Amino acid sequence: MSEMGKTGFAPTISTDSLQKYPRIFGMGPLGKMQGEITFANGIPYSGFADLDGNPFIQKNWDIQSPFFVYGEVEEWVAFPLNGVITDMAAMEKLVENTASQNGYDLSQPFFFKLVGTFDEMVTHIVTPRSPEVEGFKPGRNQENYKHQNESGELIGVYSQVGKGIYTPQSSHLHVHLINKEQSFTGHLDKIRTDLKDLTLYLPKSKNPLSFKTNDTDFSKGRLGFQQKIELDDLVKFHGHLCDGLVVGAMGLKEALEVLYPDGTIDRTDLRIVSKSSPCLTDVAVYLTGGRYQFGTFYVDDAIDGMYVVQRISDGMAYQVNLKKGVKPTIIDDMSKKAVNLELSGCELDALKGIEDDFTDYLLKADAKEIFQITEMEDFEWNPVLKADFVKTDVLNKHAANCTIE
Ligand SMILES: [Zn+2]
Ligand SMILES: [Zn+2]
Repeated sequence: MSEMGKTGFAPTISTDSLQKYPRIFGMGPLGKMQGEITFANGIPYSGFADLDGNPFIQKNWDIQSPFFVYGEVEEWVAFPLNGVITDMAAMEKLVENTASQNGYDLSQPFFFKLVGTFDEMVTHIVTPRSPEVEGFKPGRNQENYKHQNESGELIGVYSQVGKGIYTPQSSHLHVHLINKEQSFTGHLDKIRTDLKDLTLYLPKSKNPLSFKTNDTDFSKGRLGFQQKIELDDLVKFHGHLCDGLVVGAMGLKEALEVLYPDGTIDRTDLRIVSKSSPCLTDVAVYLTGGRYQFGTFYVDDAIDGMYVVQRISDGMAYQVNLKKGVKPTIIDDMSKKAVNLELSGCELDALKGIEDDFTDYLLKADAKEIFQITEMEDFEWNPVLKADFVKTDVLNKHAANCTIE
């Protein structure tokens, strides 16, 4: 999401290369330390100090930065705040706590916004270090500004990597202010403010699908080896990203969250029945640890819904259903034809497009709205071990390409 400049103050990124990203956010010093650049919502703001120290702003794409951090944020999630922050360290804690409580991975850099009216802030705008550069003032390399009851946006990045480059040496944050009038942008150094008039925004997570698992720690080991599993891991195991994989993972996650409210799935204490889809079955064995050979996994197309998952130690069992009407019927109609090898190369490509759109829809959807989890009080584990289901996702592996005459 970012591009690290060379160490030193040489201009290394031309921001006009970022014009193609409509929702870009970013920040860094301008050119040869001539000012501060802040990108908000795809608009570049350059903040300068004139020779009298008065700040002014320009919106110009043709600018360069020696170390610029940027990222695209398509959508934000708002978090209302209360309390006070008295310094930058408290602000870092606030961002860190809100993010981690809401499932963000702190090891990955992310942007945030703090919007509202701020009681007190101190910012600066850098000024050139060298007499050859316009704007140079002997003995000064920045102008400082005090702000009181200033309304606007603080655009920030949280990053545990690149200290001293993306963020100051002592902090995980790099924050710039753009005031409400859009007449000022500068680098935030100090803050003290009540939070009640402020809202924190974090990027809407593109991929909420991650799982924590607990397994034994060696071949004869004890329970306690914890790992994080993400959609990418499922893709590697399954062979491709598809709507079925996402439906399975999202639906099963809902049931596993009921079984494991603390979020850690015990893969030594689960068994599962799955419908026969190659995508659903892969999700089932990967996430639960259930296996055919140990009698903890079987496939049955007669069950209601996609899965029944059961905790072995106490028998708690839940059925997972995708609600009716969520999946576009055209996918099932075309899939049936594909399984009968009745789709042309172009139709196969079209089906892929429709499935990809459905996958995107799912990943942005609220799982609580589209899945139904039902407790199964008298669930009977009734393994019918069959091995004649059709692996439908390889039937078209040698299909002709789509060619347009
Ligand atoms: Zn800065
Ligand atoms: Zn698949």
